[in-house]
Amino acid sequence: MLNPCAHCVIYAVIPNTTIKTGHNGTRWHLDACLLGILHGHCALCVCGLSLKCMSNAAIIVAAGRGTRAGGDLPKQWQPLAGRRVIDWTVGAFEAVDEIASIILVLHPDDLDHFAPHGRIEVASGGATRGASVRNGLEALGGRDVQHVLIHDVARACISPDVIRSSLVALQNYPAVAPAVPVSDALWRGENDQVSGTQDRTGLWRAQTPQGFEFGAILAAHRAFDGDPADDVEVARAADIPVTILPGDEDNLKITTAPDFARAEKILRGQMDIRTGSGYDVHRFGPGDHVVLCGVSVPFERGLQGHSDADVGMHALTDALYGAMAEGDIGQHFPPSDPQWKGASSDIFLRHATQMASEKGYNISNIDVTLICEFPKIGPHSIAMRTALSGIMGLDMDRISVKATTSEKLGFTGRGEGIAAMATATLVRP
Ligand code: MG
Repeated sequence: MLNPCAHCVIYAVIPNTTIKTGHNGTRWHLDACLLGILHGHCALCVCGLSLKCMSNAAIIVAAGRGTRAGGDLPKQWQPLAGRRVIDWTVGAFEAVDEIASIILVLHPDDLDHFAPHGRIEVASGGATRGASVRNGLEALGGRDVQHVLIHDVARACISPDVIRSSLVALQNYPAVAPAVPVSDALWRGENDQVSGTQDRTGLWRAQTPQGFEFGAILAAHRAFDGDPADDVEVARAADIPVTILPGDEDNLKITTAPDFARAEKILRGQMDIRTGSGYDVHRFGPGDHVVLCGVSVPFERGLQGHSDADVGMHALTDALYGAMAEGDIGQHFPPSDPQWKGASSDIFLRHATQMASEKGYNISNIDVTLICEFPKIGPHSIAMRTALSGIMGLDMDRISVKATTSEKLGFTGRGEGIAAMATATLVRP
């Protein structure tokens, strides 16, 4: 006889299902919840509660000092495809909403290298990997954690899908770990000579994240004596059966310089890279200065327009909207709306920049070209780049402002106005 769930009624009509008591005493219908993980929310459960309620946690072990990949920094702090290795790894776990807490275990000397935020907390590592994992597990003690995934920071190409499938499998097994069957022939060798062959039958290449029932793996770590290769070894020493899940060839452990190159290729292949272009023209009228890319340039005339007529910033703003397929400046700030009359154009650029950030894009670079016979742009280009840098929060070496004349041809050549073109490249990891 099934007991009714406080939130979910659907299980009551499905035979042969089990009920599990989650944190806060919430009773879950397991099959419904399994579907919930697969679909990102509870598909069958009428309560629609997210699996976050089931108290999944993750530990990312990043306390190593490994510099085999070259460079002075331990590999987790080295750059990879535009971010640090650690940022890629953490980002993959952050993308999985079903994980309530993420403990990042850092070397004691590195604690100030990563600012805890959101669900991410930082714990101090120990002398060995095993000790670091134990510290991470102890940091989760006292919370109602049901399942924990333990992952090596050097596997930065881990995908949120692989993480989710580990959580799904933990509904049915006490311990799970991804692995890839060994397909190459195996040799023993000495002094660059093959000294024997090794049967590869039943051999697997182990990966992480390795997932466990929290209480069981905590107890196993507390009881383990020695320096384990991984957490599966600790689990097996405590007689916890570990089920092998299909691994992912892209989930490589970054160790050497060639690994960095391969990881970069994998991550760049997953990136959403977009380019947008913008073009704008404003005509000269009465005035004593023009505003270009946020800088007021003294001149014998001004530019006419509804706002401050910053033709460069308008072209740039349109380039950002264009990259996101989000229309144009006139759509977001209609000229018919009196509130934008005389407005400083940084309002528009800030809006487009903020939109890019909210959609998860990093602005990789921008390039603005101002087309006019006068005023001279060159003396002001650094000030313009500085102004754009301040508005967009972008480094100067990613911002270009340049100028050209049109050889006295056309409306710009006749000095009737100024035209501007811009491109922007946006990257979403
Ligand atoms: Mg304009």
